[in-house]
Amino acid sequence: MPNLQRPVALQLNNIHKNFGSLEVLKGVSLTAYDGDVISILGSSGSGKSTLLRCINLLENPSQGEVFLGNEALLLKPNKSGDLVAANQRQLEQFRSKMGFVFQNFNLWPHRTILQNIIEGPTQVLKIAKDQAISEAEVLLKRVGLLDKKDAYPENLSGGQRQRIAIARALAMKPQVLLFDEPTSALDPELVNEVLAVMKSLAEEGRTMLIVTHEMRFARDVSSQVVFLHEGRIEEIGTPEQVFDNPKSARVKDFMASHQ
Ligand code: ADP
Ligand code: MG
Repeated sequence: MPNLQRPVALQLNNIHKNFGSLEVLKGVSLTAYDGDVISILGSSGSGKSTLLRCINLLENPSQGEVFLGNEALLLKPNKSGDLVAANQRQLEQFRSKMGFVFQNFNLWPHRTILQNIIEGPTQVLKIAKDQAISEAEVLLKRVGLLDKKDAYPENLSGGQRQRIAIARALAMKPQVLLFDEPTSALDPELVNEVLAVMKSLAEEGRTMLIVTHEMRFARDVSSQVVFLHEGRIEEIGTPEQVFDNPKSARVKDFMASHQ
């Protein structure tokens, strides 16, 4: 159950998104309290990625509000009717407080692992390089890849790259971590090493939103599970409620076909 005494980490109010005449998000509201791990499930095309991307304006929502802690992201309408940042500096601050981990890692190919990790801290947070390097080394140790610090992304396996992407996100000391199918591009034997890192983050109380098809993992780590269907929350609850006792027939079918 959400503990109302914990502060709000991230709140989405009535998020809508249209791509032309296609209505992809139809009013999604969601609150993550500090330490919540929210898994977002749903069929392909249900709007999971779009929802995650609307949080930090990688997509511009058509309507709605985003709060980080109790600070509202300042939005204004543009000509095509979507909402864009009203204050670019605030948007950059928001983004720096949200670590985003994508399916395809998005590491800079021509930079070493260490350079990939210290770029944000030195350029955005203005942390001194020595300090950024020592913090990066702690993170690399944590994800078990300190020995790869001078390697380039192409010399790493997919699982290793994703662990680096997580370390890079952590280096920004984010308040919230957003994961969009972080293991979907991986060979099956590499999935668990990434899930293990994510589980350790959940256990230390990080606030996380995770789009995933890893059902066992979602059941294991989540405080809340959200099932999205055609741009709406079809069901939300604890893992026990959503996995073992779904109210919606659609969720039941989905669970049955994703055992
Ligand atoms: P999911 O992540 O749940 O698979 P998405 O959020 O990627 O779903 O996509 C939801 C719907 O929005 C899909 O029908 C997809 O084709 C459409 N969509 C996503 N991004 C765009 C875009 N940039 N332009 C037009 N349609 C898009
Ligand atoms: Mg997606």
